[in-house]
Amino acid sequence: MKALVYRGVGDIRLEEVPRPALQGPEEAIVKVTTSSICGSDLHIVHGHLGVEPGTIVGHEFTGVVEEVGPAVAGVKPGDRVLGAAGVWCGQCPACRSNLSIACKHLGIYGCGPMFGSLQGAQAEYIRVPFANVTLEKIPDGLTEEQVLFVGDILSTAYMGAEGITPGGPGIQPGSTVAVFGAGPVGLCAVAAARLFGPARIISVDMVDYRLEMAARLGADRVINAAREDPAAAITEITGGWGADFVIEAIGSTEAFTVCLSVVAPGGTVSAIGVFQQPVELPIHLLLAKNIGVKMGLANLIHMKRLIGLIQAGKLDLTPIITHRLPLAEVVRGYEIFEKKLDGCVKVLLKP
Ligand code: NAD
Ligand code: ZN
Repeated sequence: MKALVYRGVGDIRLEEVPRPALQGPEEAIVKVTTSSICGSDLHIVHGHLGVEPGTIVGHEFTGVVEEVGPAVAGVKPGDRVLGAAGVWCGQCPACRSNLSIACKHLGIYGCGPMFGSLQGAQAEYIRVPFANVTLEKIPDGLTEEQVLFVGDILSTAYMGAEGITPGGPGIQPGSTVAVFGAGPVGLCAVAAARLFGPARIISVDMVDYRLEMAARLGADRVINAAREDPAAAITEITGGWGADFVIEAIGSTEAFTVCLSVVAPGGTVSAIGVFQQPVELPIHLLLAKNIGVKMGLANLIHMKRLIGLIQAGKLDLTPIITHRLPLAEVVRGYEIFEKKLDGCVKVLLKP
């Protein structure tokens, strides 16, 4: 089969590789019909996650079940399914506490030895461990593009808006929310924030077309940080109080420092960007604000709930899909995504 393989820093190639086979009774093989390129994949290509050469990249996908092991009861061959970005067992104390991220069987597709060395989804087929818990059937009436982001960036964004820990405390009704980053993750965060009934949402980025999309998805005010100082603007908009809830959806130490400076007393900074470096926390200044700082990797336990919200017409992230390419053009897709060419927000790949 064809797959996008990481060969070394800055070196990704479309290669012919063996088709995956079942390795255990709780596994499934899924024929991928749509996958995508995520901001996290760029960290991999830049060599930041220590991924081994030979790894197939990609962790957002939908497809059709091809084959299942004898212990898989939730899905059967022919079912249309949504995959989670990672896998967890669903049985251990961490999973039972809704913190699958701490499951000892945790893996994230295409993210190397730190995350279980699973082969990824930018391929024609993918092997899915723990298929009973990590695959969701796509309900009739929904397209794969409507649900695709539930497997990673929408779950991440919802977790950020909910305050990282299941059950929050997250965004409160009537509050002011600031979302830093209007890439795919930040745009999902704007849409997810809307569900919590804030008084206003401020979106910060440095690219106008992305900010325009943020406004379309529910941001009341946009700030282009390349032209306007976001800290000064947020201070002014909030009459000096600051933003009650700040979501960092970039992974930038510089932006995170701004998030800390604009969060209101008693507020929360919720970090969902992936950082490559440590951040210095000015705790001597922050002490007097009684704030919370939370962070996390996608918690994928919300997949069913998010699919329900999409079915109910309360969430629609299809507007962020700007490019649909055949898998054969995946390397070009990375270039379009990384360089933000041609108004790019999200690139889908169709094997
Ligand atoms: P992206 O690169 O498309 O988006 C980042 C956006 O931030 C861009 O639009 C860019 O213009 C903007 N930006 C950069 N620096 C800025 C600054 N200083 N001020 C304001 N805006 C700035 O990537 P994405 O796909 O949206 O992903 C965003 C982050 O989320 C990445 O770090 C990715 O790894 C991470 N992520 C985390 C999880 C998780 O589980 N926590 C899941 C998926 C992605
Ligand atoms: Zn991702």
